[in-house]
Amino acid sequence: MLNQLTISELTAKLTKREVSAREATQACLDQIARVDGKIHAFISYNAADALAQADAADKLIFSGAKNSLLGVPIAIKDVLAVKNQPLNCASKILGNFTSTYDATAIEKLKAAGAIVFGRLNMDEFAMGSSTENSAFGLTRNPWDVTRIPGGSSGGSAAAVAADECIASLGTDTGGSIRQPAALCGCVGLKPTYGRISRYGLVAFASSLDQIGPFTKDVRDSAILLGAMSGVDPRDSTSVPEPVPNYSAALDGNIRGMKIGLPKEYMIGGLHAEVKAAVDAAVKQYEKLGAEIVEISLPHTDYAVATYYIIATAEASANLARFDGIRYGARVEGNDPIELYSKTRGAGFGAEVKRRIILGTYVLSSGYHDAYYLHAQKVRTLIRNDFLKAFEKVDAIVTPTTPTAAFKAGEKSGDPLQMYLSDIFTISCNLAGICGISIPCGFTKNPKLPIGLQLLGKPFGEETLLKIAHAYEQATGWHKEKPVI
Ligand code: GLN
Repeated sequence: MLNQLTISELTAKLTKREVSAREATQACLDQIARVDGKIHAFISYNAADALAQADAADKLIFSGAKNSLLGVPIAIKDVLAVKNQPLNCASKILGNFTSTYDATAIEKLKAAGAIVFGRLNMDEFAMGSSTENSAFGLTRNPWDVTRIPGGSSGGSAAAVAADECIASLGTDTGGSIRQPAALCGCVGLKPTYGRISRYGLVAFASSLDQIGPFTKDVRDSAILLGAMSGVDPRDSTSVPEPVPNYSAALDGNIRGMKIGLPKEYMIGGLHAEVKAAVDAAVKQYEKLGAEIVEISLPHTDYAVATYYIIATAEASANLARFDGIRYGARVEGNDPIELYSKTRGAGFGAEVKRRIILGTYVLSSGYHDAYYLHAQKVRTLIRNDFLKAFEKVDAIVTPTTPTAAFKAGEKSGDPLQMYLSDIFTISCNLAGICGISIPCGFTKNPKLPIGLQLLGKPFGEETLLKIAHAYEQATGWHKEKPVI
């Protein structure tokens, strides 16, 4: 079925004119009609618009155009601006807001010929680890619909795992690409901070947020990274590093490369089957000729606490703009203060309010130095741990999550337990480095995907993808599909 293809498989068929972009898009739409009632990965999508984009792509293909993503249907997390499409961040506060422009990442996908369609469900403003904080209802894990898909980009992961699109975009502030990718059994890449422009991404925590792809294999991840990377004058945090040909690096040869195993990551809360899968992956890397080196990231223990100070502080500032005045939903009041508080009181969900209150607290006078400034210093120590480790190794291997997908409702009443599900992913954002999650096995009963996290040097995506790809090709876990 066409909707099951990877980007590279589909583009090969499209250029040979074995299939049309319309057929590929229709296959995705049919799959959505068949399974999305159970999965609810999409908040909304416009089938007629997707097909119109497909027809335009078919015309270009017919005229001999060779854009790298021509005719490939890609679905988008509801936090990125796509011109003339709704943008809600899975919140009520944006009302019926429609984007007036394309995010740079979207502009680049469109320039490469992609069919950009659908709004994927997420935790409200990307705050969460299970997609249960959406104002638009739960997304279900395609491997077991009683379980969560992870979060905050749960819709992006579930849509790819359920073959409702060829690939999708998500964002990762503390793990929101890698964690749901692990729990849904797909490939999720968080690029280095500054690799992809965030112009047109609704900010959660500006010093941590990155856009990245969800794909069915590592090659597709390389293709989408290449298509979206590069400096952008509209995002001053984007970095003018050259954009390599990432796909060309995927030659399977990792002989002699050094992969670090951080001793701090094999902790007590790690589920036995997850540990066994990661141990087996490490053995596989040795078989492939890599050298495994034990390393230490001594400040790992402080990562979650540091993250929840910095991320909430930045969120409290970023979310101040949702005031009912300039855009989005409004609840009227007798004066501006009443209007703000009524609008924000009605528009934000409980977790977003919790974060705004926490963030305002850690920034308030008298507490700023004790919390925020302190957290910034610890953040530097965490980054230095990684930079020191990368003097010795080419990549670092860890589990992506401590457990496989948990049940819906299991952690939603306990924010701390929920926060701890990102224990292995958060440091990567604090350090500003790149990371990827790839499938590395399954739990037995029930059968649920397990993710392997690989972390790479700043702007070291080429090496990271090469190492991920070598393992993927040697094992083939990514080929397994859920029965929906
Ligand atoms: N789960 C983390 C949080 O709730 C990370 C979210 C993200 O990466 N957007 O903040």
